[in-house]
Amino acid sequence: MSRVLLVSAGPGAPGLMTVRAAEAVRTAEALLYDALVCDEAVALAPERCIRIRTGKRSGKASMKQETINRLMLRLARRGLTVVRLKGGDASVFGRSGEERAFLEANGVAVEIVPGVTAASAAAAQFGFPLTHRGEARRLMLATARTRDGALADGGWREAADPETTVALYMAGASAAAVAERLMAEGRRPATPALAVENAGRPEARLVRTDLAGLPAAVAAAAFEGPVLLLVGEVAAQAKDQSPRTVPIPVGRLAGQGA
Ligand code: SAH
Repeated sequence: MSRVLLVSAGPGAPGLMTVRAAEAVRTAEALLYDALVCDEAVALAPERCIRIRTGKRSGKASMKQETINRLMLRLARRGLTVVRLKGGDASVFGRSGEERAFLEANGVAVEIVPGVTAASAAAAQFGFPLTHRGEARRLMLATARTRDGALADGGWREAADPETTVALYMAGASAAAVAERLMAEGRRPATPALAVENAGRPEARLVRTDLAGLPAAVAAAAFEGPVLLLVGEVAAQAKDQSPRTVPIPVGRLAGQGA
């Protein structure tokens, strides 16, 4: 039976890939990878592996989901080991559910390799927790956007709860609408808030503000990389970049080399 691995590459720093993810890429015969995947992860694929880039950064046209699905199926039916490599955790805004359903409906077995999502990477890098005793007892991984680009209807009451940490994905462009809505639902305008660009990578950028100031702060930052917004009391604990981690070459983690 043919098989596809839906593999999480982590937030874009090779050291934040799991060992299982690195192994999967090293055995790939066909690799379909998204825009947020780092070059080092793609470079782990064997030389003869077919490499297909499926995504471009926001705004530019990416390959249609249907095209990606068909491609994966065609390659899997040729008997190739297909690895679908995604940024962050494949199960967090990664369409792993859609891809799994399509592949399984077509008789292809699917394995999902979990990974580090952007919110975890941002918290670790900038020294704040996502939950905190007595302060944040709920973590909400949310996107404000619906398929047609409108602001989503549900969940605002929970997001406005003072003990919720809200991590907003794909929210750069809707920061103003989100902040306005959260405050309208009763979230304190002085609630600490952050915008983190390129979380997990050496070039990561942290912008500290509060809920009321979030839209202006995001606009002023003129981000170019992927951005995660974070609203909640825990954001007050954010520090400028934590001491550099000592890099460990991915090849060694995956059992290559000395
Ligand atoms: N599966 C990914 C999310 C994909 S949706 C994950 O688990 O992280 C794409 C959105 O994720 C981006 O718009 C941005 O909001 C966020 N994102 C992904 N990688 C990021 C990074 N390194 N730094 C900040 N935000 C990131």
